[in-house]
Amino acid sequence: MAEVEATQAAQVDVSKTNSVPGEGYDKKCIFCKIVNNEMSTELLHSDDEVSCFRDIKPGAPHHYLVVPTKHVGNCKSLTKEHVPLVKQLVETGKEILQKNNITDLTDVRFGFHWPPFCSVTHLHLHVLAPASQMGFTSRLFYKLNSYWFITADQLIELLSSKGETN
Ligand SMILES: [Zn+2]
Ligand SMILES: [Zn+2]
Repeated sequence: MAEVEATQAAQVDVSKTNSVPGEGYDKKCIFCKIVNNEMSTELLHSDDEVSCFRDIKPGAPHHYLVVPTKHVGNCKSLTKEHVPLVKQLVETGKEILQKNNITDLTDVRFGFHWPPFCSVTHLHLHVLAPASQMGFTSRLFYKLNSYWFITADQLIELLSSKGETN
C-alpha cells in the first residue's frame, strides 16, 4: 500500500508552488501541498478544518481521502483530544458520499492505515464505497480487523479509552 499514495508526488503543478505556507504546513508533505492547491488534484471539499480529494488509485467505485487541512500526524500520534477531529473527518466523508449519491452508508468503509502501513504521515481517512464492490486487492489493503487497517469507529474507541493527556 506504500506506493499507492507516493505516486501522487509525480503531479506537482509548478505554477502554484509560490503560495505562502502557513502554520500547520509541512513542506515535505504531499497532502499539505494538495490541500494548499499546489497540485493538480481537485479538492472536493475544503475549509479551515477539513479537506477532501479522490484517492489517486481508487480501491472502490468511490474512494475519497478526508484529511485535516492543517498537518496532523498519523493515527498512532493522536490522543483523546483528537476524537472530535476524527469524527469531523467521518462526517465530511459522509457528506461527500451523499453529494455523490451514495445513500447506503452501511456499505461504506471508513478507516485509517496503521503505522508503518501508511506512506504519507499526514492523517487521512479512507472512505470507500460501495464496500461490497471492492476488488480482491482493496479488500486486503483496507481489511477489517487487520493489524494494518483500523476503522474510524475503532480509532475513536481507542482514543476515547486513552487518558486525558499522555
Ligand atoms: Zn501534511
Ligand atoms: Zn492510507
